[in-house]
Amino acid sequence: MRTVINGAHVATVDGSGTEYASGHVVVEDGVIVAVGDGAAETREGDQVVNGSGCLVTPGLVNTHHHLYQWATRGYAQQATLFEWLVALYPVWSGIDERVVAATTSAGLAWMAKSGCTTAADHHYVFPSGSGDIMAALVDGGKRVGTRLHVVRGSMDCGKSQGGLPPDSIVESTEQALLATEEAITTYHDASPGSRVQIAVGPCSPFSASGELMREGAALARRHGVQMHTHLAETTDEEEHCVEQFGCTPLEYADKLGWLGPDVWLAHGIHFSDKEIQRLGATKTGVAHCPSSNARLGAGIARVRDLLDVGCPVGLGVDGAASNEAGGLGDELRQSLYLARLRGGPAAITARESLWLGTMGGAKCLGRGDHIGSIEVGKQADVAVWRVDGLAHAGITDPVAALVLGSLPPLDLLLVGGETVVRLGQLTTVDEELVAADLAAASRLLADRAGVTA
Ligand SMILES: [Zn+2]
Repeated sequence: MRTVINGAHVATVDGSGTEYASGHVVVEDGVIVAVGDGAAETREGDQVVNGSGCLVTPGLVNTHHHLYQWATRGYAQQATLFEWLVALYPVWSGIDERVVAATTSAGLAWMAKSGCTTAADHHYVFPSGSGDIMAALVDGGKRVGTRLHVVRGSMDCGKSQGGLPPDSIVESTEQALLATEEAITTYHDASPGSRVQIAVGPCSPFSASGELMREGAALARRHGVQMHTHLAETTDEEEHCVEQFGCTPLEYADKLGWLGPDVWLAHGIHFSDKEIQRLGATKTGVAHCPSSNARLGAGIARVRDLLDVGCPVGLGVDGAASNEAGGLGDELRQSLYLARLRGGPAAITARESLWLGTMGGAKCLGRGDHIGSIEVGKQADVAVWRVDGLAHAGITDPVAALVLGSLPPLDLLLVGGETVVRLGQLTTVDEELVAADLAAASRLLADRAGVTA
């Protein structure tokens, strides 16, 4: 089955930033087989898409999420990160496989509707007796049809060990490592068209022990999978590290073997000039989460500086409890806004924000060779945005319409050539049923935690 998109403005996000004002994209067997200027020839049986009035981009790549948090939105609205975590840990302690099934479907469905074709979910809460949470995540990804990178997260450092979370929701170090290895051997698929990959993800310096970080790195490198953790999100975290370990969060990560091209760090806000250089030298990735950082008042990441030293930087929505909106398309604009609030109007271009949301994210996840741009031989993960409606008609630059304007209607979203969204509607799941399941899961968690509305 071939799909031919003709007559669209195509922003390929390839290495030269090639764009075609009226171009084509041809997809066959899930892979991009042609991209270029003008119209491609069509054959009988092709699915032909009239791209006139549309912008075609690579599908967006989300590098940091906590899908389970879809069921805990609206809590602790004025809190700092640490206050917010302390308020939410008891609610999260009620999660189980049923809640995760509902939140995975809802979160990924919403992601897809905002143009996202690949999402990384950092899941680090595994209460005892909560069932098979990994299976619930992987099944949810299959149901919605997006690619899913499950970061098998872990916490082994509860309050009694000097950590932030209550002891009741942490695992033992050994248990966390064994379960992470099992997730890799059960689910990780390294093929170019892979729909499921696993990464190793001790949660943060204030909830995972040094041993878990060090052993986790060794485990990841033994299996050739990526590594992910939260780092340098707040000044509270920095104070915690200086107090407990006598160094900054980045120095701590460096000591434990947590820098390199196989690592991407969530947030990465509070770095010194020297630390930025070190990140660039090691080609460590950063998942920039602008809305979450603004919602929690955590600070503004130094995205311009990170790009200038050659770090792969991707975008993330972060968990839905610290970003109640949760759509990746909007983060394109948020990333541009925050970079410009920090560095002025020339700090970043609309096209660089698009790069963060596509190719930058693909590189963070270790998949830059297979997704993140529209190039022959790459996976056919493609978003077709309509930019000739009331919100965008007449705009001189379709990429500015996507990044600076309101999020355009999504006419078509292909993942590996398969349609997941058509004319703004999900084709894989029933949106109303998914929303009803999400509401039920949210109520269940509130009831379990004794929260009254
Ligand atoms: Zn996070």
